Amino acid sequence: MDAQAVLKQTFGYESFRPGQAEIITKVLNGENVLALMPTGGGKSLCYQIPAVMLPGITLVVSPLIALMKDQVDAANETGIPATFINSTLTFPEMNDRISAVQAGRIKLLYVAPERFESPAFMGMLGQLKISLIAVDEAHCISQWGHDFRPSYLRLADTLDQIAGHPNVIALTATATPKVADDIMDRLAIPRANEVKTGFARDNLAFQVVKDQAGDTFIVNYLRANPEQSGIVYCSTRKEVERVASMLAKKKIDCAIYHGGLGEDERRQNQEDFLFDRVFVMVATNAFGMGIDKSNVRFVIHDQVPGSLEAYYQEAGRAGRDGLPGDAILLYKAQDLNVQRFFIDQSEMADDLKNAEYQKLQEMNAYANTQDCLQQFIQAYFGETASACDRCSNCLDDREQQDVTVDAQMVLSCVMRMDQHFGKGMIAQVLTGAHNQRIATFHFDKLSTYNLMSNRTQKDVGHFIDYLTASGLLSPSAGQYPTLSVTADGAAVLKGEQTVMRKVTRKVASHAPVAKD
Ligand code: ADP
Repeated sequence: MDAQAVLKQTFGYESFRPGQAEIITKVLNGENVLALMPTGGGKSLCYQIPAVMLPGITLVVSPLIALMKDQVDAANETGIPATFINSTLTFPEMNDRISAVQAGRIKLLYVAPERFESPAFMGMLGQLKISLIAVDEAHCISQWGHDFRPSYLRLADTLDQIAGHPNVIALTATATPKVADDIMDRLAIPRANEVKTGFARDNLAFQVVKDQAGDTFIVNYLRANPEQSGIVYCSTRKEVERVASMLAKKKIDCAIYHGGLGEDERRQNQEDFLFDRVFVMVATNAFGMGIDKSNVRFVIHDQVPGSLEAYYQEAGRAGRDGLPGDAILLYKAQDLNVQRFFIDQSEMADDLKNAEYQKLQEMNAYANTQDCLQQFIQAYFGETASACDRCSNCLDDREQQDVTVDAQMVLSCVMRMDQHFGKGMIAQVLTGAHNQRIATFHFDKLSTYNLMSNRTQKDVGHFIDYLTASGLLSPSAGQYPTLSVTADGAAVLKGEQTVMRKVTRKVASHAPVAKD
């Protein structure tokens, strides 16, 4: 039976999705492959079809123990004999499963990466015929990814020790070019075997909503979209609880999910949402990885997440069924501080912390760009694309205004401050603030001091964010980024380049979206 026949007979599907046929052909040819596909793109099939066709066992390495049971149940329902071995099993259960695997009754074996650290497990693997190793959520292997896991890093070394050197398929929906390179290096995947199907999600409408009362937006949105399934993501448990009680006061039902809840409560709430007993889930990022709920119509981020990778992965849980979905980011500059705090408190080495701060800056640039949002995300993942015509920036029909002179004021102020200061201080100097630091550095003597006295510090701060998102200013790495003028910024200063910005206040009529 060929792959096409398995697709039809085992899975009941007529045709392959983009990328699937190419990936499966390579895998069946015994090549190592990296599959980069968007969420909902159909990654599982890329190893499940080979699992059916190859003589031995396919090992699936997945970081999410909590989801293994569901994945195994789904595979068994499809008719692929599958099981998992992880730390949730009792010793007798584990032995039963190992016997089933050894007796050749299993085609798909799901394991967590930590398993490979057990000599007993490695010993058992030595006696089996392993045909393929599928490394799911492969971005976890890279320190440059947004969800690095040390057990994945060790995995790369251990795979080499498996008898027969089975070939590897790595799968992820979220890898920048740097992360993809890292995965390929670590798992010995030739560059030519990177199969990318394009990260665009043509059915999602991305929106950035700035400096509006977030609660009011959420309430209005939920009331305007009753009985639509969706997720509201918050950065902290406390904020989940706050948003949930705010919604309760407005008589809007929701379930909550975060790491502070008991296991039973989490499972109950998750099921209420999955089975449409409740439409809205308010959660931290503990919720959602690997959850295959196809009819999620919207994902609202109540707070800015730490990176565009995390954002795209979470937002991408909307519209997995291919029908339209909304991906809305409620942006408040102060929410960046929550993420800075997470980075600062983490125990990462300094260079990794700096990489995290840099990702946060990219996230901030996404929130402040006036270019197509989908295009911005794709560029981040190394793709070129045309404008989506659906996002809040593409639909923003305010007039463009020439703000070159304002931009020159900011850029020359940055130069005069020797490019050693951050956004807040630059905005203070431009608006003529009086404080000790300004006096100490004699910034009140600069010709750019008080040059924007007719604007508020907050407004100038937004403008600086816009210039940064437009690539005229470049933030340094680190917790308190200082801004320097880029080559494009220098061209603006010399009058060789103009700067346009949409600035008139106008509320869009199609949805409760407002601009700064
Ligand atoms: P992800 O890439 O996010 O892991 P999944 O493998 O869970 O995506 O696939 C998403 C959904 O698409 C699943 O319900 C799956 O059965 C379905 N699917 C995958 N491949 C095809 C196909 N070729 N035709 C139709 N549906 C498919």
